[in-house]
Amino acid sequence: MQKTIITRAALVLVFALICLTGLFAEEARITDIRFWQSPEEAQVVLDISAPPRVSDVSMLRDGTLYFDISECAFRPGRQRYPLQNPFLEVLTVQQNDDRSARVFFRVPQGVEAKTFVLAKNDRKGDRIVIFLREPQATLMQKRNAELFEVNRLKAGNVKIVVIDPGHGGEDPGTRHNGIIEKNYVMTMGKLIKAYFDRDPRFKAILTRDGDYIIPLERRREIAERLGADAFISLHVNYNSKKVIRGIEVYYESPKGAVGEAERLVAETENQVDFAGAMNNAAPIITKREIIEKQAITMNKSRQLAEKVEAQLGASVVELPSRGVKRAGFKVLHSMAMPSVLVEFGYVSNLSDAEILKNYTARTRLAQGLYFGVRDFLLGHIEEGYDTGYLDFIKTAAAERARKAALRKTQAAAKTSGKGKNRTYKVKSGDTLSGIAAKHGVTTAAIAKANKLSSKQVIKAGQTLVIPAK
Ligand SMILES: [Zn+2]
Repeated sequence: MQKTIITRAALVLVFALICLTGLFAEEARITDIRFWQSPEEAQVVLDISAPPRVSDVSMLRDGTLYFDISECAFRPGRQRYPLQNPFLEVLTVQQNDDRSARVFFRVPQGVEAKTFVLAKNDRKGDRIVIFLREPQATLMQKRNAELFEVNRLKAGNVKIVVIDPGHGGEDPGTRHNGIIEKNYVMTMGKLIKAYFDRDPRFKAILTRDGDYIIPLERRREIAERLGADAFISLHVNYNSKKVIRGIEVYYESPKGAVGEAERLVAETENQVDFAGAMNNAAPIITKREIIEKQAITMNKSRQLAEKVEAQLGASVVELPSRGVKRAGFKVLHSMAMPSVLVEFGYVSNLSDAEILKNYTARTRLAQGLYFGVRDFLLGHIEEGYDTGYLDFIKTAAAERARKAALRKTQAAAKTSGKGKNRTYKVKSGDTLSGIAAKHGVTTAAIAKANKLSSKQVIKAGQTLVIPAK
């Protein structure tokens, strides 16, 4: 947790004062200011009691940035929060006479700052976010150094395992029975990493090592960039049915993979269009190639999931396993390395929650996960395809073809039938059913085409419309 300096306690006092004096009762209020920091970026989040109207960001001559929030109350006067960290030197909030609040912030040279408003949703209220990012040059330098070290280890046949503690920062994940997911999986991630780091055959890397959020696709991109041999995302589960309990290990589902293949094809096409315009040929990857790559990776992911599930399931006697499952989670879409997502248990279930909180059980789960990944990476990995996925693709293609053919026949029937209504002059002794049979249509169809009621009798000499078949 790197929520620093601006303490909630101080702010609570501030708002107590505002409430007591009854000032600004009608206006929006800044109800909290929070600060989140990762190694590469930081966020200042201002919680606002109503949708805020925010001006553009301007700059003072000394480089200080600022923006105004109109009709917004904060503490009278000027509050200064010296942060002095790599992203933010100081944050100042000033209550203006015109009932607006002005937010000043000064960032170290090179730090990129972006301000935006987040509308309230079912979990969070209205917010103003100041997003700060490390200078690109420093970032690249750091990343290259990390990659260099990983490549050196890989040359010595060390296996790279990327562990992804889910959620973080503004996204706490699920919370119940005294467990907050983002914190729990962070603790587990560090425990698991410790097991790998004690074994010279492995190097474990965490996607996050503090309380901050990382976009889902970036989590697997971190692993891909490092050429990881395995990717494991850590979570705990929740269900409103409190009896549901146990461990689950997921790997990519056929449906999730197809969606990703389609997204990649669309992306490639856009790039090709762009490259064409730039007269610069880009490598083209076809949908078939993507599916083949996915099927190879998913076959490995299944083996990883099975090994991990076997060890996790055996690690704590009291904690049952619900087995290996498949789902199209975004973090599992990689074609570059086998990926699994582990749900350690249901925090909504009291027994699971008690076990998950127990130190010995946690250690055993961490060790079990390490054993499972080790069994997979050092054991025999079967080459081949995820045949279930290829069958799914085939079935889907056949179904599409069947539907297309059906549409074609229907369309053809419609056109060939058009304007081909014939007429028939009723002869003496004819019956409606006889005429219908002769023309291969139903009695009802003739009745309908000629607007005949059920009791009406046809007469000789009458002309009937015979509808097309
Ligand atoms: Zn989760």
